[in-house]
Amino acid sequence: MKYRHSPAQSTEYLRLALKHMTQHDAGMHPTNYTVWYEYVSGTNPALRSELDSLLKGGGRLSEQTLDGLHTRHISELDAKTALRLGDSVAQLVSHVSESTAAAGDEAARFGNSLARWNEELIAPASGSDALASGVADILRGTQQMQQAITTLKTRLAESVRETELLRQEVARAREEALIDALTGLTNRKGFDLALAECLGELQGESVGPCLLMIDLDHFKKINDSLGHVFGDRVLANVGQILRANVKGKDTAARYGGEEFAVVLPNTPRGGAVGLAEALRALVAASRVRRSGDRESLVGNISVSIGVADHFAGESASDLVNRADRALYAAKMQGRNRVVLAPRPVTTSGQ
Ligand code: GH3
Ligand code: MG
Ligand code: MG
Repeated sequence: MKYRHSPAQSTEYLRLALKHMTQHDAGMHPTNYTVWYEYVSGTNPALRSELDSLLKGGGRLSEQTLDGLHTRHISELDAKTALRLGDSVAQLVSHVSESTAAAGDEAARFGNSLARWNEELIAPASGSDALASGVADILRGTQQMQQAITTLKTRLAESVRETELLRQEVARAREEALIDALTGLTNRKGFDLALAECLGELQGESVGPCLLMIDLDHFKKINDSLGHVFGDRVLANVGQILRANVKGKDTAARYGGEEFAVVLPNTPRGGAVGLAEALRALVAASRVRRSGDRESLVGNISVSIGVADHFAGESASDLVNRADRALYAAKMQGRNRVVLAPRPVTTSGQ
């Protein structure tokens, strides 16, 4: 549990947070409440110090400022830190659990040997009550130790299960933080991570990755003539086409606004151009429902696509720039088309 404040304490923090919230130009929603709650309760020192310096400047804090604080100090941090912590706690518990099991086995072996010695050697030979009762004491002690270890083992097994559940929960939360709500695709941050991961794993691959940069054609016009709500539906439609056709180790992302990107690891350029062409055709053939007085289906939606195949040593940003330039060329050549980026003449190829 993240917050461990008593009901009385948290009510007081609620009162203080509300006081702050009403003083600024921002909505009274959970995101902003979390920022102020963590501020007034002192649970987030980094957030507190940044917010303190913002407050010193006077003036009212905007929605954007508070949203930025939430991203930097709460959502990103939560997911990353919790995942890391979750992993190390899971490892720690599992190590302790293994050591306890080993200690339990040792104690059991020791107890058995002691009992055998007592029965077979010490008791018959010594005839001494003192020695026999001494050995009996040690035996009892060993049995108690074994019992304690068994209890500890059970508790540790429970902890292992709990930390595994926690780890899964955090992994899910992290995945959610990397998803764009409108299209259901990976968001920009997820795209950056996917591309970096793909380029990081390149050593020795014979075929590098390809990148598709996809941009809706004349989208401003669509928004202007049919409205933003319809525009959003068009974006969701492209998202659905990408989700249905980009699978497995490939990643389709909303790069930002009305731009999308697809990372295709280990893909020859012919394959990438083929997929780009298929996606382009699917978007061009799609119809999006327009609700209103007369429900109707709107067509004539298209995308232009730039394709770049990675060459050895190329950085992620250079690859994105090259695909972007090909996208720009597709726009210049009339839109609703796919253009493959030329490979720099200085490289010999992969
Ligand atoms: P081009 O064919 O050259 O790409 O022209 P365009 O009109 O698509 O490009 P431009 O960059 O001029 O306009 C992009 C528009 O996309 C402007 C912006 O309002 C709109 N847009 C960006 N994000 C969203 C969104 O999330 N929803 C909606 N409805 N519109 C968006
Ligand atoms: Mg654009
Ligand atoms: Mg556009």
